[in-house]
Amino acid sequence: MLRNFSTPSDTIPVTVIGAGIAGAWQALTFARAGYPVTLFERDDPTMLGGTSRWAGGMLAPYCEQEAAEPAVTRLGLRSLELWREEKLDDAAFNGSLVVAHARDRADFKRFGRMTENHAAVGAEDIAALEPDLAGRFHDGLFFAEEGHVEPRRVLPQLHARLAQANGEIRFGTECEPHDAQGIVIDCRGFAAADGDDGSVDGLRGVKGEAVIIETGEIKLTRPVRVMHPRWPLYIVPRAANQFFVGATSIESEDGGVTVRSMLELLTAAYAVHPAFAEARIVEIGAALRPAFADNLPRIAIEGRRIGVNGLYRHGFLLAPALAELTLAYVARGAIDNEVMRCA
Ligand SMILES: Cc1cc2nc3c(=O)[nH]c(=O)nc-3n(C[C@H](O)[C@H](O)[C@H](O)COP(=O)(O)OP(=O)(O)OC[C@H]3O[C@@H](n4cnc5c(N)ncnc54)[C@H](O)[C@@H]3O)c2cc1C
Repeated sequence: MLRNFSTPSDTIPVTVIGAGIAGAWQALTFARAGYPVTLFERDDPTMLGGTSRWAGGMLAPYCEQEAAEPAVTRLGLRSLELWREEKLDDAAFNGSLVVAHARDRADFKRFGRMTENHAAVGAEDIAALEPDLAGRFHDGLFFAEEGHVEPRRVLPQLHARLAQANGEIRFGTECEPHDAQGIVIDCRGFAAADGDDGSVDGLRGVKGEAVIIETGEIKLTRPVRVMHPRWPLYIVPRAANQFFVGATSIESEDGGVTVRSMLELLTAAYAVHPAFAEARIVEIGAALRPAFADNLPRIAIEGRRIGVNGLYRHGFLLAPALAELTLAYVARGAIDNEVMRCA
C-alpha cells in the first residue's frame, strides 16, 4: 500500500509514461510537490500519435451531464478550478452555448433536463453572446461557468511548466511500466490496450472523428454545441480563424475517417452558419478515446505501479483532478472510492 511509498524528502523517483493530457498533468503535479519526475514520451514533441492532439479541448462538466456519471461532474468541476489557477494562454472560461434547430427541439429539451447550471437564452441573448449567430437560433442554453482550451497549444505549455518545476521530459523514448524506476504512473492512453506484459485489461477505443476548418468570415468566442440525433456535435473556435468541428463517437478501433462522418460534421457546421461553406479545410482526422466498460476514468493501483487511464471523452476535463487524486494517494494514502482500484 501507499503509505510505504515515500515522501518527496526521500527522493523516490516518479516515472510517468505518456505525455498526453493525463501524463502531462500527473508529471507536473508530482514535480510541483517536490518529487523527482521523469516523463517519457515515445513520440516527438509534435505528439502526432496520441489522442490528446485530436481533442476539442472543451472543459464542460455541466454539458457532459447529459451522458456522463456524477463522478465526471465532480472531478470536472475540480479540474476547472485547477485549469483556471494555471492561467495558461489558450485557455478561456467564458462558457458554452448550446443551440438547436427547430427539428431537434425534443432533443434540446431533453438536454436541458439532463444538465444543470445553465440559463435559457433567446434570440437576443444569443446575438449578444455570439454576434455572428444573430437571427440564426431562437432558443439556446448558456453554461456560463464552462471553459475550453486549445489542446495543441496547452500541452507544450504544460510540458514547459514541468521543466520549470525541475521535472524532466524525454521525447522519442519508449518506456514500459515494468522497466521503469520508482513510482510508475502509466498514462499510455489507448496504447496500453495492446502492450505485451504491460497491457491494461478491459480498455477499448472509441473512435472520434473531427475536422479543422479556417475562415475569417465568422467569429465565435466560445464552443457552440448543436443538437444532433446521433452525436453531440460542436464547433470550438481556435486561434488564427480556425474552428474545430467534432466529433463522432463510434464503437470502433479503426482509426480511419469516413465520408459519412465528414458529411455530417460539415453539414452541421454549415447549418450553424452558411459562411462555413466557404471555409478552407485544414485537417481531417480521428483518434481513439481510451475507455473502460463504464466509461469512467480509473486510477489502478498495483504496488508501486499506478495506471491512470480510461479518460474517454473527458481527458482534458478530468486530467488535473485525477493528478491531484494520484498525488493524494501517494503522499497520504487517500483513496477515492469512485475512481481508484487497488489490486
Ligand atoms: C475527436 C475527439 C474529441 C475530444 N474532445 C474532448 C474534449 O472536448 N474535452 C475533453 O476533455 N476530452 C476530449 N476528448 C477526449 C480526450 O482527447 C482523451 O480523453 C485524452 O486525450 C486521453 O488522454 P491520454 O493522455 O490518456 O492519452 P493520449 O493523449 O493518447 O496520450 C498517451 C501518450 O502516451 C504515449 N505512449 C504510449 N505508449 C508509450 C510508451 N510505451 N512509452 C512512452 N510513451 C508512450 C503516446 O505516444 C501518447 O502521446 C476528445 C477525444 C477525441 C478523439
